[in-house]
Amino acid sequence: MNRTHIRNILRIAFKSRAKVTVIFLLSLGIPSAFLLFLAVRGVEYDRTLTEQRLLAEHRGIADTLVVEVDKEILLIEQRLLGWFDQRSLFNESDTTNKSSRLIDELFVLVEGDLVYPYATLMYDSDDGPSQLRVQTADAQIDRMVDEAERNEFQLKNYVRAGELYRAALNRSTTDETKADLYMRLARVHMRMEEWAQAEETFGLVAERYEHSILPGGLPGGLAARLELIGLSHRAIDINETRSRLISLYGELIGGTWSLRRSQFKFARNKIELIAGELENSDIRREISDLGRTADSMASRTDYLLELGDAVESIILDSAGAPIESATLCERYVVTGPNGRNMLLVAKSIKPHPETLMAVGVIVDHSALATETLPQKIEQIPVGRNATLVVRSDDGKVIYGELPPETARLTVSGLFKDDFPSWKIELYQNDPQFFERLISGRQSFYIYALLTVVLVMIFGTIMTARMMSRELELARMKSDFVSTVSHEFRSPLTSIRQMAEMLKSGRVLSDERREQYYEVILEQSERLSLLVSNILDLAKIDEQRFTLDYEKVDVKQLLETIVLQARQQAGDESIAITLDTDSKLPIATLDGGAVTHIMKNLIDNAIKYSSGSPEITITARSDNHDLVITVEDRGIGIPKGEVDKVFERFYRVGDEFTRKVKGTGLGLALVRELVHAHGGTIKLSSEIQKGSSFTIRLPVVNNKESNHG
Ligand code: ADP
Repeated sequence: MNRTHIRNILRIAFKSRAKVTVIFLLSLGIPSAFLLFLAVRGVEYDRTLTEQRLLAEHRGIADTLVVEVDKEILLIEQRLLGWFDQRSLFNESDTTNKSSRLIDELFVLVEGDLVYPYATLMYDSDDGPSQLRVQTADAQIDRMVDEAERNEFQLKNYVRAGELYRAALNRSTTDETKADLYMRLARVHMRMEEWAQAEETFGLVAERYEHSILPGGLPGGLAARLELIGLSHRAIDINETRSRLISLYGELIGGTWSLRRSQFKFARNKIELIAGELENSDIRREISDLGRTADSMASRTDYLLELGDAVESIILDSAGAPIESATLCERYVVTGPNGRNMLLVAKSIKPHPETLMAVGVIVDHSALATETLPQKIEQIPVGRNATLVVRSDDGKVIYGELPPETARLTVSGLFKDDFPSWKIELYQNDPQFFERLISGRQSFYIYALLTVVLVMIFGTIMTARMMSRELELARMKSDFVSTVSHEFRSPLTSIRQMAEMLKSGRVLSDERREQYYEVILEQSERLSLLVSNILDLAKIDEQRFTLDYEKVDVKQLLETIVLQARQQAGDESIAITLDTDSKLPIATLDGGAVTHIMKNLIDNAIKYSSGSPEITITARSDNHDLVITVEDRGIGIPKGEVDKVFERFYRVGDEFTRKVKGTGLGLALVRELVHAHGGTIKLSSEIQKGSSFTIRLPVVNNKESNHG
């Protein structure tokens, strides 16, 4: 296909009716595609917008929670800095410093030692050497003790051993040595079964050397009192044993002595062993009650000791000096025995000249989780479609309930400085809700689009129809003008010619003159029918037209019309037959209008017949209606145009193929006149066989005609 070919096709397309169609299709297709594009974009935009809004909302919730929890921690930090600046911690004897529920424990780093001023530690960790004997500076005492031990253990000479211990006692000057030697002396008394003296000597140690450390590491008071319990148990003095057991256990728990963990365990085991041997359930119960207290305090002590190690590793360097800090207050997360712990530490930025180096708190994790968190979350409005969950760092849910699996995770955030080290998760409970929302809007867009497109299609069709009608009308009007002028011109020309000839006296014979007059008359009648057709239609259009009703003898009227028609035709070959019912009525009609109708129909029947026309007119009365049929055997009307011939200016065929002249107004006027009478007109026609026009006029309250 070359260019000119395409151009030709385009030219043809745009020249013909297709041009209109193409323009319509374009005017419909382009806006529709654009609308569709807009709708799809709209839906997409809507979806992103809603999603963004939801995300921002959830982020806002998470941020608020972070800020709110952080506020609580900031409060503690402020308090901590206050204590540090004023060094007021030690002046307060009560525990108001621990008043915040979030403070689990307070600690102070003083001269490189970590101290818990408000906690009762039952023991210290196990490190540090233990000695077998007190080291004295006096070599003679050492020699005496060696000799005493040889007598006591090898020679079993207890009297001599006792003497030597006493002699050493006299020389000794320190409490530790004295406590050790008294304990040895009491032991010798026990070996000699001198129970009273043994009791007295242990009692002395318990009283005077309570805190003196024995070579094994135990404080004198504790070791002596354990021996005293043994003595009263041996003597089966239950009451004494009981009171000694309970008072010693109480002091052990109360932290009378600073012990190592193993020493504490040793003393505790011994107490519980003796209590177990006693056949007294009351004592056993009391001891096991105390045991429970000891258990919980021991675990608290273990907890603080282990945490203490972690704290020291943070704030002290390997040489035990405080690590310089960039800020005055720092946050740490350390792993302690109960999982992760948070520490807030206020410390010297430069190693402090004074002894106090740092003050810190252990934040109570569980209080934070069980009190602060729910309290804060309650104040934050979480929408109905969202679920807030807080997880600990090991993934366990601390707050909230996990939503169903269909829920969509929107935000997963951490607390400030990873402190507390939990994760905040927000879920959108019903993601389908969102989808539904979108699809709801989507269908709205689609329906809107569909409506617009339908309206456009409808509008386009209507416009197309209107336009083609207008075009047709314009075409018919221009046809009409040329036809009318032609119709007028030919009779006027012949009238003028004949009148001129008559006037000039050139027509000599009378017969010829008679003929001329007749032609003039006939032509002027044709003209007047034409003019009256045009005028009547104009009147009808302007609604000035009224029927002149009168009593009409239908049969007579029809006979007159047919007679005139025959005379007008003047041609023998035209056969017009009138076939009337014998009982035709005297009807109230507009006689002139009916004449007009009939003249038009007969005129057409003659015009549109080839050869010698045969016209049959029948009239009958049917159920108070007058039915008149004008039938011919002419050229007929194509099926598709049967209804159109009643339209104004409509003429079958086109200008060039039409042989017969006409205006296309005759049938239009006939229909108007029939309708004005309240009647109907029907046409049945077959091409090349003929046409038949049937008029039905209502003639109510009329007498029948006398004829027939
Ligand atoms: P015109 O002045 O053209 O006769 P009409 O309104 O009387 O106008 O008729 C409209 C058209 O109907 C005619 O042009 C003709 O094509 C067709 N027509 C009317 N009567 C007949 C008929 N009896 N037989 C065939 N065609 C007819």
